[in-house]
Amino acid sequence: MAQKKKRKKKMPKALRVCLIMLAILTVLFGTTVALAMSGVIPANDVEDFLDGFVGEGVEKALDKVLPNDLVDTVFVDKYGEFVDFVVDLLPKPEREALDGEIRVYFFDVGQSDSILIMAPEGNVLIDAGDNDCQDALEGYLDDLGVTTLNIVIATHPHEDHIGSMDMIFEEFEVVNLIMPNAEVDTDTFDATGDYTRMMEGAQKQGTAISYAAGGSSFSLGELSFLFLAPNEKDYTDLNDWSLVTKVTYGSTSMILTGDAESVSEKQIIAKYTSSQLDCDILKSGHHGSSSSSCEEFLDAIDAEIAIISCGTGNKYGHPNQPVLDRYEERGMTVHRTDLEGTIVYVSNGAEFTKVP
Ligand SMILES: [Zn+2]
Repeated sequence: MAQKKKRKKKMPKALRVCLIMLAILTVLFGTTVALAMSGVIPANDVEDFLDGFVGEGVEKALDKVLPNDLVDTVFVDKYGEFVDFVVDLLPKPEREALDGEIRVYFFDVGQSDSILIMAPEGNVLIDAGDNDCQDALEGYLDDLGVTTLNIVIATHPHEDHIGSMDMIFEEFEVVNLIMPNAEVDTDTFDATGDYTRMMEGAQKQGTAISYAAGGSSFSLGELSFLFLAPNEKDYTDLNDWSLVTKVTYGSTSMILTGDAESVSEKQIIAKYTSSQLDCDILKSGHHGSSSSSCEEFLDAIDAEIAIISCGTGNKYGHPNQPVLDRYEERGMTVHRTDLEGTIVYVSNGAEFTKVP
């Protein structure tokens, strides 16, 4: 007599996919975290891998069997929080101890500006790029072992210079924030809310806030900073409110211009002596726009190297050809973040050397 076969109850497809995804997630997560704990892969790469490859893969699979809203609230949000929690537990790179030298990073932050100076006595950040570079900038700083920024300079309150400041105040300890003493009309320039978010971040942390103008100066150990601009209170263009900083280390120096245009450049030439202006590196004003880097300014500062921070294929056509021509006429070496990515220079106090 044929025995009646017991029919196996089939598991619903959604449940099967969820269980398979959970198993894959557990294996990939466990393996990646184990490799990170043993120092084989850095914590930031782990975060990218878990958020990107693993997280997005699992999300796509779940989207096929569960309502998208449910996947977003139950999986994506919680998973993101869990990845952050795990990454925080992983060993972080240590900040390199610098002996008698400074390292300057002109970060690749697309069509925006962010520069880090690492000195034996601490770290200085000049601008924090736009809103789109938050993750990249956080990754750069984490990879360098930066946890504290002794000084943060916000050259002027445009989104492409302070967009990621909220992240900076959330993720890093900031001791001092320096800004230009611009008459702040929040309705006009803070339409995106970046300035307000930066100030809230600074206040929440208890960061000391100071306002500087042309002639102000400070130092961090052997590293000295002289603000060359702004020099008036009636600029019509916010770019000219940019804090222009001459940074000197030993006999080497740089002029970091923010987005200062020729109006400010001409005031600088009129106000300072040639020895105060002479420098090795110019951070090209306003992403290499022809509204900056006027002939007289270039002649007065006599820099050998120009660094242009701009985005690949940007809609403004930066850097402008006339500016590149002016640099070439003066025999200046030009480096561009849109072509080379992050540009790094080291100074031992006697000369700057580019790090390949
Ligand atoms: Zn800008």
